[in-house]
Amino acid sequence: MPASDAACRVAIVGGGPAGCAAALALLQRGLDGVTLIEAGDYGRPRIGESLPPDTRDLLIRLGLWVAFQQQGHDPCLGSCSAWGDDQLGYNDFISSPHGSGWHLDRRRFERWLADEAVGRGADLITKTRLQTLEASANGFRLHLRDNTAQRLLHADYLIDASGGHARVARQLGARLLELDQLICVYGFFTRPAAVTASRLTLLEAVEYGWWYRASLPDDQLCIALACDLPELRRLRANDWQYWLTLLAGTRHTASNLEGHGFHPARMQATPAPSGRLDRVMGARWLAVGDAATRFDPLTARGVHKALEDGLAAADVIIGWQANDPDPAQVYGRQIRERYEEFRQMRRYLYAQERRWPDAAFWQERQRLV
Ligand SMILES: Cc1cc2nc3c(=O)[nH]c(=O)nc-3n(C[C@H](O)[C@H](O)[C@H](O)COP(=O)(O)OP(=O)(O)OC[C@H]3O[C@@H](n4cnc5c(N)ncnc54)[C@H](O)[C@@H]3O)c2cc1C
Repeated sequence: MPASDAACRVAIVGGGPAGCAAALALLQRGLDGVTLIEAGDYGRPRIGESLPPDTRDLLIRLGLWVAFQQQGHDPCLGSCSAWGDDQLGYNDFISSPHGSGWHLDRRRFERWLADEAVGRGADLITKTRLQTLEASANGFRLHLRDNTAQRLLHADYLIDASGGHARVARQLGARLLELDQLICVYGFFTRPAAVTASRLTLLEAVEYGWWYRASLPDDQLCIALACDLPELRRLRANDWQYWLTLLAGTRHTASNLEGHGFHPARMQATPAPSGRLDRVMGARWLAVGDAATRFDPLTARGVHKALEDGLAAADVIIGWQANDPDPAQVYGRQIRERYEEFRQMRRYLYAQERRWPDAAFWQERQRLV
């Protein structure tokens, strides 16, 4: 039975970067009654830490730039990759007018975003999951559940910021259209005190997919393997011993790992397909961030895109309140155009690698070229 009944103007399901940005932007625009519902409690480490230099503009627009700089996230000076060739090529942010990017402490970044939203007046409910919902002509009834009880929340407007599974939009009839079955298996290493952290992200293509390596705060190093699900099963790469054997066979990703401590218990796998919803909006609801469109982690643009969508979502809802449909149309067009740009970029990136024409992973990607 419901423990309590509450109401809000805008309910945001998912307190990741997209949900927090939407809350911050709505409150910045003077709308109150914003409730953020987050299944977790910002205690779990998360993958996805490279933030590109141009995200600075979005942080400025959200009124977060000064406070963000004080957070002390590590700088990221660019990336290097063995892609299309065995030699490393370098992409240095020195040529970016925005300066360097960042290697985020993702957990701390998200908790900080949520705290900033609360500081501006959002209600944050953590450890609480949206289970089901009902739509009516003037809003939504959300059935929420925490560890102990269920509760009902009424909302005039609803934002789906629940990530790649798009929990809200799918319950409202939208469908996920996926381009592939990419999955990432990642592990963590502790760096010995004498080894300096690299400020570059490393990418390395291999016959069965690609590897990625990035430094994290607190002397940690994250290494991820991206491949397709059938390949993962064939290679048994979700077993850490097989994963380590595959890693040892790489030329660049495994280099200079001597003395690093590996943590088998912290290994995780996460689906990372590229895709989009067949529709990102409906009556009084819209989807943002990964719930709306999901980009290949190769692009390292997911957090940027999430913040950008959060900002746009505030315009859409404020437009709806004023019976102005234009911001919603602009949002729909932006999502379509950006997704098309991403698809072209994805085609271009995968077309650069021609060393394994018979390998299933690359055949699948080059089929799209
Ligand atoms: C392996 C990998 C590496 C990546 N690397 C990078 C990178 O280097 N740089 C980059 O920018 N991006 C990267 N990304 C992508 C990036 O992590 C995502 O694009 C980004 O997290 C999307 O933000 P979001 O807020 O839309 O969704 P999420 O961050 O997924 O947040 C969704 C939130 O919703 C909550 N939630 C879900 N269901 C419910 C529910 N029913 N009720 C309540 N809450 C719910 C979840 O707990 C979660 O906190 C990477 C992704 C992967 C898989």
